Amino acid sequence: MTPPVIAIPCRHDASGRHHQLPMQGMGQAYLSAVIAAGGVPVLVPLGLDEPRLFRALERTDGLLLAGGEDIAPALFGEEPHPNLGTVDADRDAAEVALARRALEAGLPLLAVCRGIQVLNVAAGGTLYQDIPSQVSGALKHNCFYPEYPRDHIAHTVAIAPDSRLATILGRDVAVPVNSLHHQAVKAVGAGLRVVAQAPDGIVEAVEGTGGAWVLAVQWHPEELAPSRPDMAALFRAFVEAAGR
Ligand code: MN
Repeated sequence: MTPPVIAIPCRHDASGRHHQLPMQGMGQAYLSAVIAAGGVPVLVPLGLDEPRLFRALERTDGLLLAGGEDIAPALFGEEPHPNLGTVDADRDAAEVALARRALEAGLPLLAVCRGIQVLNVAAGGTLYQDIPSQVSGALKHNCFYPEYPRDHIAHTVAIAPDSRLATILGRDVAVPVNSLHHQAVKAVGAGLRVVAQAPDGIVEAVEGTGGAWVLAVQWHPEELAPSRPDMAALFRAFVEAAGR
């Protein structure tokens, strides 16, 4: 198989750690997971207009939407909740446009954490802006670094037995996952279906209902993949789909 090229939109790094130079980039764990799965990750910078964003997408075989900031609630018709976290308008615009384009084109798409939220909003769905204050009885999903290691198992998920995800992971009950999120899918967007839920009902994965390979998870498989064959298999299945 010719190694498939996987587009990954960058995120802004405002940390100033590089001599105050504004930077863009992507977390090593995503790059490592795609590389280990046989793919060629290609970073797409924020700041491109849509024609050039789509040009980048045309030259790639799959789209990976990674984790990061909260989504601006204006994108799904809500006012900001007091507990809304940091948002990035450039990243929202680029990733929503890329997600819509990938769905239209039938391009394989894997979305992680923020990515499932971007995909859902791109498909017309809505989000809980803050689980602890908006979902009564919810488990603790915001097990953030550095209070918790990024591979901390926070809860299990139950997976729809007839889903692509169940086939990839090799099981459909009590799959242990990490959880570094305080937002979640609320109303599910058009052309998507829920294929995994936490014990409290929070949506933890969706798949496309059409023929294309579209899979999004709320947990962080890239942090688990080095020690979990099932999570490494998720990236291999994505890269293999991109290679077809
Ligand atoms: Mn969770």
